[in-house]
Formats: sequence, C-alpha cells, structure tokens
Amino acid sequence: MKTAAVRGFRDILPEESALWQMLVTQARTSFAAYGFSEIIVPILEKTDLFARAIGETTDIVEKEMYTFPDRDESSLTLRPEGTASVIRAYIEHSLHQKEPVSKLFYIGPMFRRERPQKGRYRQFHQIGAEILGRDDPLIDAELLLMLHDFFVALQLEVTLDINSLGCPTCRPGYREQLRAFGESKLAALCEDCHSRLNRNPLRLLDCKKDGCRQATAQAPALADSLCDPCRTHFTSVQERLRQEQVRIVVNPRLVRGLDYYCRTSFEILAEGLGSQNAVCGGGRYDGLVEQLGGPAIPGIGFAIGVERLAMLIQAQNRDFATPPEVFIAPLGAAAEHQAFAVARRLRSSGYRVELESGGRGLKAQMRRADKLAARHVLILGEDELAAGKGTVRDMQTKTDRPMSVDLSLATPDLMNAIRNAGN
Ligand code: ATP
Ligand code: MG
Repeated sequence: MKTAAVRGFRDILPEESALWQMLVTQARTSFAAYGFSEIIVPILEKTDLFARAIGETTDIVEKEMYTFPDRDESSLTLRPEGTASVIRAYIEHSLHQKEPVSKLFYIGPMFRRERPQKGRYRQFHQIGAEILGRDDPLIDAELLLMLHDFFVALQLEVTLDINSLGCPTCRPGYREQLRAFGESKLAALCEDCHSRLNRNPLRLLDCKKDGCRQATAQAPALADSLCDPCRTHFTSVQERLRQEQVRIVVNPRLVRGLDYYCRTSFEILAEGLGSQNAVCGGGRYDGLVEQLGGPAIPGIGFAIGVERLAMLIQAQNRDFATPPEVFIAPLGAAAEHQAFAVARRLRSSGYRVELESGGRGLKAQMRRADKLAARHVLILGEDELAAGKGTVRDMQTKTDRPMSVDLSLATPDLMNAIRNAGN
C-alpha cells in the first residue's frame, strides 16, 4: 500500500523548485537593497503566543491552528504566520536595545487547517518582512516601496490596495457605528456576519458573499472617522508612494483578518488566481510588541504567499531551469573511468556537469543531453582516450564539426576549450 502526503500538504518537485529558488533569491536581493536582514525563527511555538498575538476570536486561532500537547502536556502550535514569532524573538533578544530600527525578513512554511483548494493549502510558504522601531509614514512608504520593487523585479505588474484602519483613539467609535449599521441590515447578512457583528464588526466589510456585500455597500467608511493624526499619517503614506509612481488604490473595504493591525493596511490582489487572489497582505501593528510583553514599540510588516506568487510566475511561461554546461558521454568502461575523473574536476571548479554511466550508446546519450538542454557534450571514445583527448559537440549551434580537446589541460583551460570548440 502506498502512503500519500497529508491532505493540504504538497511536494514541490524539481520542475517547480527552480522557480522557487528564483523567487527566494530575488526576495533576498530586493530586501537587501533596503537594508533588511534575514531572521530564522522556529516553526513551533507555545500556543499561547499565537492566541495572544493573532487574537482569540480570529478564524486562525479558533479553527485553523495545528495545536497539540507536547509530551510534558504543554500546548504547542505549528506557526500559522510569521509575525508573532519574529516579535517574540525581537523581545526575547532585546533587539530594540541593539538598534533603533530593526528591518527583518523571513522565509518559510506556515500551517493553517483550512479547506484545501487551488492556491490554498494547509502547509504553505510565506516571504515576510517587518520594520520595528518607528511609526512615521516614511517607514510605511519604505516598506511598501520595497514590496513594489520586488514585484517589478519579478516582472509582475500589481496594484497595491491600501486603507487605514485607524488607531485605538478613532477605531472604537467607528466599530460602534458599523455595528449599529450592521444591526439595521441584520436580515440581509449571512450567519458568519451575525457572529462577526458583535465580535469584530470590521470583518463585515470583507465578507465575500454577494448578499452581505450589497447590504454593506452603503456602510460608513472608516476613512471618514479617522482622527487627525491617523488621517495625516495615511495621506502622507499615499503621497510618498504616488511620488514614486507606485500604483495604489484606496480600498475602504480592506480590513485584515488579524486583530493586531492598525493604521496602514494593504493587500496585493492579482488576476488569474481565481478566488484565492491575495498574493500579499500586511499592515501596521503598533500595539503588538507591547501586547506580547515587550516595550511600546511600533511595527509594520507584510507576508507574501509563495505558492500564489509561483502560480503568477508560472503563467508567464518563463524558464528557470539551470541546464548542465557540459554533458559527458563516455563510450566504454575505460572511458567511463576517465569521465568520472573529468566530471569531478570540472564540478569542483563550480561548473554544472552531467555524467552518463551505464554503458549506453552514443545515440541514446545524445538524446538525453538534448533533453537536459546541455550546452556542450564531451564525448569520450576509446580510441581518442589513448591520446588523452575527447570530442566536443556544441548542442546549441549543432555543429557537425565536433572539435577535439586535450583532457590534460588545466581545468579552466579545459572548460574554455569545451566552450570554444566548434567556433
Ligand atoms: P486569504 O484571504 O486568501 O485567506 P489571508 O488574509 O488569510 O489570505 P494572510 O494571513 O495575510 O492571508 O497571509 C498573507 C498571504 O499568505 C496571503 O496573501 C496569501 O498569499 C498567503 N496565504 C494565506 N493563507 C494561505 C493558504 N492557506 N494557502 C496558501 N497561501 C496562503
Ligand atoms: Mg485566510
């Protein structure tokens, strides 16, 4: 009997992992340009961390976490998101005492027990970034510019939806207004919205059901209730982004699922992903560090869903394979022996070399070299071997005048000879 992977957990096979490598490398490059450093935090945390950070009444904490008792009965949870762990580490290691502003990014798997579907898995991956230490609009704009640059570097055109969620001064009043509005539309709202109404009325705005969307179309907008400091902050963030030609759309219905967000909130929605169309979400969370037992330090961050990002890139049909530079095709046992040594020599100098063994004929080997898209084939035949030579075929120009190279050349010279053969 075969054992399959757990539902909602998937393998990333080599044909896809090349694309993933490209994404991750690009993130590291784009983020380094903005002075970010990588933080690597554990996948497992005490359950209490997520309950406190994300909020007891969120879908994630109520229904979606992989939580289990450890052998000593303490409760552990596979992380459903990255920010809580980053903040925990930030507090635990007093990073705020080491630098006034910390710019951190992370890459790794997250776990949520949701209903698996296209673009939604139970283990998925995020690339996330956080700036901790300051709350001025310049910081928000800088983070969003970095995000924008990352997407541009990937040749993806995206629009940033942004909104302000206000702060503890102005949001409670708005919540109350929205709750009262919801009460007046009760009959038109779905069951989920009924329970949202008391627990977290802001979530009425992001219900995906048509009936609810219609019912809340005329709901009061948070933007009209912002206090002066929140309004100034929001305007300033938008100005800076527009100044840098970042495409932004103010979306008054944008509220985020996690309790900890305040002020600037944003999302990147992409076409072509179906209903799982959010590739990135994030926002400011000025009370979170304190809520988790640290000093009152503001922060802002985002998380990009790698699976959904990979789907967008796949739709571009770009090729990210790294084919071998040299495919060595030995003919006969003695040649195989020699091929082994030559391959080792080239590989240890950093060249990508594919070595065929198993005594197959030249035709079969050439077919395989073609399939792998190898740039050059080095054929080692028994007769030439005695003379310490091999034959090179250029697979791109398909030159039918294969050239002979001297295997005793020093490694860089040998590689040059292989590359120049046939020219
Ligand atoms: P959604 O509305 O799609 O459930 P979310 O608001 O729960 O997204 P966040 O918690 O903000 O998502 O996480 C940031 C990003 O992580 C999302 O924009 C999305 O690209 C990705 N993501 C979230 N949940 C999943 C999942 N179950 N499978 C794959 N990617 C996911
Ligand atoms: Mg979700």
